[in-house]
Amino acid sequence: MQDATAGYQGGCLCGQVRYVATQFEENLAHCHCSMCRKFHGAAFASFGSVKRENFQWLQGETELVAYQAPNGTIRRFCKHCGSSLTFAPSTSAIDLVEIALGSLDSDLALLPNAHIYVGSKANWDVINDDLPQYAEGRASRCLNTSQ
Ligand SMILES: [Zn+2]
Ligand SMILES: [Zn+2]
Repeated sequence: MQDATAGYQGGCLCGQVRYVATQFEENLAHCHCSMCRKFHGAAFASFGSVKRENFQWLQGETELVAYQAPNGTIRRFCKHCGSSLTFAPSTSAIDLVEIALGSLDSDLALLPNAHIYVGSKANWDVINDDLPQYAEGRASRCLNTSQ
């Protein structure tokens, strides 16, 4: 068991679901795709990856509901308050847990370093920072730099 007081802790709005992540991988991103926008009711969703061995549900895992979209992506949320907590690209993606960063209570040592799926962002969503903006995923065309 990991020490529940260590690491990055977060949870849902009603507090029934709690997790701890001991280490984030480096690629934190803001995703502007239409599914993340709808799921979060926001201009974009911010996600960070954690290796499975560095992640643990502290309480309330049974209160989670999984929504699988037609493209196979899976978003998990609290069935009581609706908070988005995790994302996975498919059921076979078990090595990494993508955490909805808005659910964190801890400060992060890393900052997001990319905007992804900018090709489908809302027209009222104005990006005012200098991070690279990718049309789709990080491997896709970059819209705003000469990289
Ligand atoms: Zn909740
Ligand atoms: Zn997305």
